[in-house]
Amino acid sequence: MTKLSFQICNGIKSVIGESKFSLHEPRFNKEELNNLKDCIDTTFVSSIGEYVDKFENLISEYTNSKRVIAVVNGTSALHLALKVAGIKANDEVICPSLTFVATANAISYLDAKPHFVDINEKTLGLDPKALNKWLDEIVVREDGQIKNKNTGRKISAIVPMHAYGHPVEIESIKEIANRYDLFVIEDAAEALGSFYKNKHTGTFGDIGILSFNGNKIITTGGGGALLTDNDEIAEKAKHLSTTAKIKHKWEFVHDQIGFNYRLPNLNASLGCAQMRKLPKFINSKRVLFSKYYEAFKCIKGIKLFSEPINSKSNYWLQTLILERGYEEELPEILDMTNKCGLMTRPAWELIHNLPMYRDCPRAPLPIAESLAKRIINIPSSAFLI
Ligand SMILES: *Cc1c(COP(=O)(O)O)cnc(C)c1O
Repeated sequence: MTKLSFQICNGIKSVIGESKFSLHEPRFNKEELNNLKDCIDTTFVSSIGEYVDKFENLISEYTNSKRVIAVVNGTSALHLALKVAGIKANDEVICPSLTFVATANAISYLDAKPHFVDINEKTLGLDPKALNKWLDEIVVREDGQIKNKNTGRKISAIVPMHAYGHPVEIESIKEIANRYDLFVIEDAAEALGSFYKNKHTGTFGDIGILSFNGNKIITTGGGGALLTDNDEIAEKAKHLSTTAKIKHKWEFVHDQIGFNYRLPNLNASLGCAQMRKLPKFINSKRVLFSKYYEAFKCIKGIKLFSEPINSKSNYWLQTLILERGYEEELPEILDMTNKCGLMTRPAWELIHNLPMYRDCPRAPLPIAESLAKRIINIPSSAFLI
């Protein structure tokens, strides 16, 4: 065992104890059980039922997003958001390479191409400076369109992602997007409960999305949502999520190729109970951060990632960053911590290194390349403290 991996094992144990904990686990109590029982007793388990509306209203109140459309998962929320934003086949959509694969997959579902731009070391998300510089370099305006002069394709949107719950510099990114007439769709899948300048993540862009997968800060089993202040976009998204069926007492008429993406009542009932716990979860995670911070602050070679300026983070996943020069320690640290029963994970493989995305356009990605070798997520569940 190297000194650093030993220190990290001890640091984690000093905060959460000797038990085995995974990276992130949900917590339920009687309220979830009662809500589920209610769905079963009333037989409203599927796409119709009062919990869906209730859940949407709770999210709307909490995020201050005018409209919320609950769907089956975060990936479908992204797909639908890009679709209603009008992203077309062969468009290019700017996104980070350090993200969960769903960000790029959703772009590809529309036969559009992800176009990777570098991230910022302080936020772990898209870097406005790198974005600005890159767009200045490659954009040409042709027939009223913003085009990538290297590929000839239209660039139509930017999808920033708030990594591990930490807000990106979304205002600067929006300014750049405005200058180039690009849609902004915020992948806030990990960022429910995170605020930038006191405004909820996912409410800055034209559309934002959330995920309520089992490993996220609250869960509905599977689930996701679109956030928007634009009524027209909201109506379109809701219509498309419900097979584009025209409301009628008995007729089955659909006016486009829609999707079966609506969140079932059963899942929404879990979400209603979970939303009441969200403030407590966030509080615990912020306390967990400060305890880990104390445990790691004197260890040479690592730093616990802390929320960027102007933001209040949900600290969804706690993140250790190896200092430059310590990259080689990563495999040993992952091996030792996991052998000790402490679940740790590296960052996602960068998307542009995955076989299906290798040929996508990209800016230089030095920060993403470097951070991908230096990120370690450590046990982060809200109930750990
Ligand atoms: C979880 C996640 C998604 C997808 O959400 P699902 O509900 O799992 O489909 C998308 N983007 C990011 C960054 C995520 O972490």
